[in-house]
Amino acid sequence: MSTPPRAPIPTALTIAGSDSGGGAGVQADLKTFLGCRVHGMSAITAVTVQNSLGVSGIYELPPEAVGAQIESVASDIGVGAAKTGMLASAEIMAAITGALDRVEIGPLVVDPVAASQHGDPLLRPDALDALRELLIPRATLITPNLGEIRLLVGIEVSDRSDMDAAADALLGLGSTWVIVKGGHLPTGDAVDLLTDGDRRVELSAARHDSVHTHGSGDTLAASTCAGLARGLDVVEAVRFGKRYVTAAVADSYPLGAGLGPVGHFWRVRELF
Ligand code: PLP
Repeated sequence: MSTPPRAPIPTALTIAGSDSGGGAGVQADLKTFLGCRVHGMSAITAVTVQNSLGVSGIYELPPEAVGAQIESVASDIGVGAAKTGMLASAEIMAAITGALDRVEIGPLVVDPVAASQHGDPLLRPDALDALRELLIPRATLITPNLGEIRLLVGIEVSDRSDMDAAADALLGLGSTWVIVKGGHLPTGDAVDLLTDGDRRVELSAARHDSVHTHGSGDTLAASTCAGLARGLDVVEAVRFGKRYVTAAVADSYPLGAGLGPVGHFWRVRELF
């Protein structure tokens, strides 16, 4: 295994699905990487047929094509940090972990994406075990939302004490850090719990009332990944990621007849 030359700017890789509507998935991740001044790369797992009303089709890539994208960029350009989003199937996850065995990458953020905000499945039901057993144990950080926590560890989080129990159960799956996102709890501010078992950090951010939050989970994972690629430690990277996604939710906009996306324009608006 040869080590790629050092890139002149930080590099980050998203391993995720394409959203034809441009609000979530690979499209959100690459916009986020740009906004964080990180060179963004992509290993596409599946192409979704998607607009503001939901997902009407999914075309998975052959698993070997997913692994090959990862190996290609990691062996030449180098991956300062990576994140996973929609992984679709157990076969694709096996190809990803096979590729990760053959190359070196920086810290890995696993966003255990299971469904879209419309409830459209983005993960085959039989792929949950592979997510738990293949991907999560390799993760520096996992970023499940409340629905994904229910799927992964069977805990229904409805208040702050449930967040502690969920964090402990999730850490049992083998990631180094977990962030339990409390954004959907009916509390005032959006409070998340970040822990590695020893340190417990509560992160709160002002809640913005917007229904147009398509892509918010992807954007938090991608901005945190960008922070890691820039050399921040996990706590600082998550603080940075929260600041980025909070601004993006405040910058969200309606699009189409359904749910609009979080906005990435706040980072480039002064150019025009
Ligand atoms: N589509 C793709 C390809 C995604 O990767 C994701 C989230 O990871 C979504 C849709 C869902 O985004 P949201 O839950 O914000 O609707």
